[in-house]
This record gives sequence, C-alpha cells and structure tokens, in this order.
Amino acid sequence: MGEDATNDVELIDVGKRFGSVIAVAQVNLAVRAGEFFSFLGPSGSGKTTCLRMIAGFEQPSEGRVLLQGRDVAGSPPYDRDVNTVFQDYALFPHLSVGENVEYGLKVKRVGRADRRTRAADALAMVRLDGYGSRRINQLSGGQRQRVALARALVNRPKVLLLDEPLGALDLKLREEMQGELKRIQAEVGITFIYVTHDQDEALAMSDRLAVFSEGHLEQVGPPAEVYERPASAFVAGFVGTSNVITDDLARRLRGSSEAFTVRPEKLRCVPAAAAHDPADGEIRATGRIRTAVYLGERTRFTIDLDGGGELVAVEQNRSDGESQPLATPGTSVRVAWDRRFDQVLPGAPALDPAPTDTAPIDAAPIDEGSTNAAPSEGEACPDPAGS
Ligand code: ATP
Repeated sequence: MGEDATNDVELIDVGKRFGSVIAVAQVNLAVRAGEFFSFLGPSGSGKTTCLRMIAGFEQPSEGRVLLQGRDVAGSPPYDRDVNTVFQDYALFPHLSVGENVEYGLKVKRVGRADRRTRAADALAMVRLDGYGSRRINQLSGGQRQRVALARALVNRPKVLLLDEPLGALDLKLREEMQGELKRIQAEVGITFIYVTHDQDEALAMSDRLAVFSEGHLEQVGPPAEVYERPASAFVAGFVGTSNVITDDLARRLRGSSEAFTVRPEKLRCVPAAAAHDPADGEIRATGRIRTAVYLGERTRFTIDLDGGGELVAVEQNRSDGESQPLATPGTSVRVAWDRRFDQVLPGAPALDPAPTDTAPIDAAPIDEGSTNAAPSEGEACPDPAGS
C-alpha cells in the first residue's frame, strides 16, 4: 500500500502492544476520502485501539499512520485533522448545549461571532436548532448524541471518528440515528470511520467495512461483498450467520472436502412429500426438522441431515408462522440451493482428492460430517478461532 493523498487515512503494517497484550497486529488499511467506513468486530478485537491510533490518543508500536498522505507519527490529537465522537459523548455537564458545541472553536481562538454562527449551523445540521441554551442534563440520550456530533462537526474535520456512538441508545432511536448519520455524512461529505460490534449497523451504514478479529483484519470490502463472499469462517459467522460446512459433509454435499459456507436464506426447504422441481446446478439434501424458531418476519429451521450433519435454513413467513408447513419438528424435508451461493473458504484443508461423483446427498453413502452452523438469535456467534 503506497502513500496516496486520495486516501484520507492509511494504516501501514500497524501494530499495537500493551505490555504483553497484542491489541493490533499487522493492520493494512486505506480509507478513501468521503467514505463511510466501519470497523466491525467483537469486543476486544482491536477496533477502538485502531481508531485511537488514527486520532492520536495512542501511538503505534509498529507501522505508520498516514492522514491525507502525511505520516502523523508523534503528532498529538489536536494537531490532526480528525475529530472523535465517543460512546459516552464526553459532554461538559456544566456548559449549555451551545457552549459545548463552541468549545473546540474557543480553544482554537475563533472569534465569538463566527463561533456562534458555526455552532448554530452545526446544531441545525443535527436538527437541534433552538436548543443552544439548554443544559446537557435537560436532554434525552438521543439529543446528547446529537450534541456530541455537532461538537465534532463544528470543527469541520476531514475525518470524523465515531466510537460506538449509538451504543447507549435503544433500538428504535439507534435506527433513527443511523439514518441521521448517513444523511449528515452525505451532506457534509467528510470521511466517517465508525466503530461498531453490530453487524446490521455496519452493513446498513457503510460504503465499506473492515472485519476485525483478535487484532487483525479478516476482510475489507463493501457490505454485500463481505456478506455474500465471506473470506473466512470467522467472517461468515460474525457478519450475519452462516452454515460453515467442512470435512465429510462438504464432500457429500459438494463433492470436495474444501470447507465452504452458505447463508441460511439461500436454502430452499420444502416438505419431502411436496412436489418439487429440481433445478440444474443445485445442491440437494434430505433430512428432518429438528427445531423451528419463529422470529416474526422469518422462521429459522435447524435440519438434521439424513446420514449426519446439520444445516440451518431461514424462510420468510409469507403466511402466518403457525401455519408454516415445516414448523413441526420431525417433518421430513428436502433442502436445496444453487451452488453459485457456496463460498469456498480459503486456506481450509482439502483432506482427500475430491471424488468426481457429486450425487446429491440423499443418494450418497453417508459419513458423519460437521458443520459450524449459525447460532440462534441471542446465542454467541461461532468462533472458529476457538477463543
Ligand atoms: P470493544 O468493542 O469492547 O471496545 P475493541 O475491539 O474496540 O473492543 P480494543 O479496545 O481495541 O478492542 O482492545 C483490544 C485489546 O487490547 C483488548 O484485549 C484490550 O483488553 C486490550 N487493550 C486495549 N487498551 C488497553 C490498554 N490501555 N492497556 C492494556 N490493554 C489494552
């Protein structure tokens, strides 16, 4: 990765150690000017540490951080053209909304009249016109979040760093603020780097996202690419949920023991007794419903495959959930999906030479296979790294 001024932020071989803890290792990343870019990963995966190195609150142990092509080694936060919105907002409770927003400008010795105008503009941008004289403790959580945003925007930074800014808000408000943040980013055109552990949020908001695991990057790409083409079992399990299929089951289904992943919603699942019309290029299997979990808009099925192994499938509830023909555990089913939706996972060991016979599983001799199937809602995501 070279030094490129069209990139607002570049991390080159960046690592960070805290004593014996390796928080970030060998991260290479370029964020383009004007992008909405998310750092997504589980707790402790190094997202905030990377953000803090960009902001200047931490210095890398190795590698270089470039802002607009300039190496910022050693330069303090106030000397970087970035601003940070923290999860806890870090507002001054004894100052009014207007004084909070103006604070950074005052430090920079911007004149009073200019400060007032810019603060009013920033408050209008976050739809808080007229709130300038309110105290912070007279605001709701969502309004405080907006003040924190206005306080960062008023400095007109090239890059805005947002560290789980919506984490303290309830779901409805969070969804509303997600839309607001997208609107504001489109209006001001500055680069947003957004830290979240919420995959839906990252998929909904980002132009591109980077998936972190244990201090390193697993994948960087646009949401659809990361979701549809996960580069590793970790990404398949963390960004959405997925069937990760390995070993014997992979061989039975695809005719090769290369590990692969397929998303539950790509599977078509019908009662075995129903008429079906097999299409070309499909992978097919038979089994029995083990569990059917009604989730409102969809139902999630875990299917025990004939001969061993399991798959998770998701069906939209086009009729009401209770009349779902597959809702009864024990129902015999056929499962099929277009093999174009398979994503082979790189680096996965191929155990044996692939057999040429790719007969569907319901016709094949069966060994016990293994899947790392998608977790149910509320369960921990699978962690193929085993940590
Ligand atoms: P979260 O979503 O929980 O904020 P994160 O992905 O942002 O997590 P980091 O805060 O970057 O993760 O932490 C990465 C690792 O570095 C963790 O193991 C954490 O305990 C460790 N770490 C972070 N800051 C320090 C510090 N100041 N001293 C020691 N270890 C630290």
